[in-house]
Amino acid sequence: MKKYIELREQKVEYTLRRSARARRIRFAIYGGGEFVVTAPRDFSEFALENFMREKADWILKKTKEFKSVKKPLSSENGRHAYLTHRQTALELARKRLEHYNNIYNFTFCKIRIKSQRTCWGSCSRRKNLNFNYKLAFLPVHVADYVVVHELCHLGEFNHSKNFWDLVAKTIPDYLNVRKELRRHSLGV
Ligand SMILES: [Zn+2]
Repeated sequence: MKKYIELREQKVEYTLRRSARARRIRFAIYGGGEFVVTAPRDFSEFALENFMREKADWILKKTKEFKSVKKPLSSENGRHAYLTHRQTALELARKRLEHYNNIYNFTFCKIRIKSQRTCWGSCSRRKNLNFNYKLAFLPVHVADYVVVHELCHLGEFNHSKNFWDLVAKTIPDYLNVRKELRRHSLGV
């Protein structure tokens, strides 16, 4: 359901989803700055709006930041979808790598967008980073996890504790986001 809230004198549009499984309020920003709020079924709208007002700075910053990222029409498959969305995925990957590499300062060579059935991303020994074009379909915080995961392989080419410590440096709640990523199927 589309809704509006006024935050710091700005009208912000959001989609409200009620979920029986949600235990807390979740915010997700998609390409184009689309803002989706998932709330537990019995959470009152009054309390929800208060919560959003508390988080106004974050909401305004993130919806603005991702307005420029193009929004794919739908979650599509196949070669046509790949050709249509790879540029969007590349822009997103570039932008987020730049953002996170300010913190990590790793060196990498090429960024490639691929169409793979089983893999969201990979990092090669030659320091090339590969991402699935479906990165563009993910909520931004989940896409960020994929980007940071591959970026951190430049520091640790394994899944050791050191590797996860690197990931946690920028995504402290990566365990939750990783769970969320598993819910986004790559399809066929
Ligand atoms: Zn990995």
